Amino acid sequence: MAITLSSGFKMPVVGLGVWRVEGKEIKDLISNAVKIGYRHFDCAADYKNEAEVGDALKEVIQAGLVKREDLFITTKLWNSDHGHVVEACKDSLKKLRLDYLDLYLVHFPVATRHTGVGTTDSALADDGVLDIDTTISLETTWHAMEDLVSMGLVKSIGISNYDIFLTRDCLAYAKIKPAVNQIETHPYFQRDSLVKFCQKHGVSVTAHTPLGGAAANTEWFGTVSCLDDPVFKGLAEKYNKTVAQIVLRWGIQRNTVVIPKSSKIKRLEENFQVFDFELSQEDMDLIKKLDRNYRTNQPAKFWGIDLYA
Ligand code: NDP
Repeated sequence: MAITLSSGFKMPVVGLGVWRVEGKEIKDLISNAVKIGYRHFDCAADYKNEAEVGDALKEVIQAGLVKREDLFITTKLWNSDHGHVVEACKDSLKKLRLDYLDLYLVHFPVATRHTGVGTTDSALADDGVLDIDTTISLETTWHAMEDLVSMGLVKSIGISNYDIFLTRDCLAYAKIKPAVNQIETHPYFQRDSLVKFCQKHGVSVTAHTPLGGAAANTEWFGTVSCLDDPVFKGLAEKYNKTVAQIVLRWGIQRNTVVIPKSSKIKRLEENFQVFDFELSQEDMDLIKKLDRNYRTNQPAKFWGIDLYA
């Protein structure tokens, strides 16, 4: 199942996110994911595993498990490379062993001090705060992203972690509209206004952290997991599905694309088996009431500045 982006290309509604997947795990994970049916992989220069993903992709293609044109590969421009968009994209392509990307995203709406293409550092200034580069506007970055499309390096371009105002601005200055805004959204952080604003203006929404980050974000950020919510446990019983499947199905039914990460093969299967049932309107309404406006991913915690304030 796929959605059609404003660029005309199709994007599968379930993808595998590879943040916090260790390099040595990737080969097995991607090969199993492809066998299960995954065609969409969500990467980023900052995940520091593009080279391993590239090796794994090459293997599954060479083994005849899948054709390049049937895959949808996303990666992201890191903050320190806003002034070096073309070089950063080529660096990612080289590591991923690809001729083109299906989707390239501006990872965060902030340019930081350049530390060398693809190094993806988050350099702090002397005061211990992220060294933000105030000389590069997001508009400049976006026009460089547009150049990648005319160069044939990228099929679609998009943004990530942009709020309504930044998305609105991007729509105003874009010659090529962002096809996607990839944002944190899950049942405890529904962001209905932002999701609906994007969708109304032709910007498809990808839900990152679609399971609320589950155990990983509890460990990293001390957050509460929506997978432990008793309402979801009840729904899981009712539909004879797991809690994760209910949460992902909810994401799909609100027309977002979901990119859950798992390093466990059984969970890869589980997270892909979300097409054989439908949540009733009544249950969609029930889940709507669980919203806590609760962000679980807090990268700014390491940057000495609250970028979301
Ligand atoms: P997720 O919401 O995908 O949660 C991942 C956690 O859920 C892991 O602890 C995983 O553990 C666990 N999990 C996965 N499946 C199940 C299941 N069926 N039942 C119970 N637990 C499960 O959060 P992520 O932060 O990983 O986000 C997903 C993807 O989104 C990332 O990989 C990345 O591609 C993207 N992302 C993008 C960001 C951006 O700024 N644009 C920011 C954050 C994420 P285990 O591996 O042990 O199964």
